[in-house]
Amino acid sequence: MPDVMVSIAKPKVFGFLHGLAFITISLSVSWLALANSTSSAQSSPLPKLMLPVICEVGQSCLVQKLVDHDSGSERRDYRCGKLTTDGHDGVDIRLRTLDDMRAGYRVVAAASGTVLRTRDGEPDISTRVRDVIAGKEAGNGVVIDHGNGWQTQYSHMLQGSVTVQPGQKITAGTPLGLIGMSGNSEFPHLHFSIRHNGVTIDPFTGGHQGTACDPTAKGKGLWDPMASTALQYAPTAIISVGLSSSLPSRLAMTQSNESQPPNSTEPMFLWADVMGAKPGDIQTFTIRGPDGQVTHSQQLDVNDGGLSWFAFSGKRPPTSGWPKGKYSGLYVIRRDGVVIAKRGRIDTVN
Ligand SMILES: [Zn+2]
Repeated sequence: MPDVMVSIAKPKVFGFLHGLAFITISLSVSWLALANSTSSAQSSPLPKLMLPVICEVGQSCLVQKLVDHDSGSERRDYRCGKLTTDGHDGVDIRLRTLDDMRAGYRVVAAASGTVLRTRDGEPDISTRVRDVIAGKEAGNGVVIDHGNGWQTQYSHMLQGSVTVQPGQKITAGTPLGLIGMSGNSEFPHLHFSIRHNGVTIDPFTGGHQGTACDPTAKGKGLWDPMASTALQYAPTAIISVGLSSSLPSRLAMTQSNESQPPNSTEPMFLWADVMGAKPGDIQTFTIRGPDGQVTHSQQLDVNDGGLSWFAFSGKRPPTSGWPKGKYSGLYVIRRDGVVIAKRGRIDTVN
């Protein structure tokens, strides 16, 4: 009887012990999972992110929007500034002009991983011109799985430019395609987003989108040192300026970006597309003729500002027409008496 009892009891005991061990392991696994989802996302290993574009930030490209940290209908970036729109869940790195888009600027993987999904074939047309097809708001893009619940997404890429396939293993810096304006986009840019276990993370803080903003935040977050330096907070910038013979409109620029170059018989306008202008900022428009003399000058207040500000100033031609030659336009914006940005443009009247 004792032998039988032992022979019956043994498997039960082992089974129980095995079960206990299994429970212990699975408990610790779920505890880890719980810890990951409730504490800072930084506790899960993810290599530092490199800049997901090959362009010189502040020169050939600009950061136009950050992640929105305001849970209501307001907009607040990680520094409590307004460099975002309500609910924006990524970082927009834009090119200045459509010509730059056509020249081709690379989008690269921010970290190593495996390509999860891709889309291509969507046209690069501004949503100011046509409606976006539902479900294709991101346009052409790539999603990369980095393991440990981390994913990055690259949206609005140029039609026909996506060069990776689902399942493909890639390293940080692998070219994915080119910056475009496919999907829900009004200007050529990369919308870069990062998620941990499906939750949007602000790469500038490493925290969730819903965490409170901080005016003193350094913005290093998940970026590697080079990206962090390149992506320094710059809330105001002149995107582009131009000289035009017709009343310039932002719509015209999203189609050609050049509007109509100046000619001798029509009015000459100097226009500027600015991000992050503030009410009270003062703009100065100056056009100089072929002899270097000022042919037009005007000072105007910014009365609205916001994320995007479009302004222009112009003058009718003299009765004999504009003299032929090179004209230069200079747009300067001042805040509290200090020049915060200026940009010029030279065009020829033939
Ligand atoms: Zn965006």
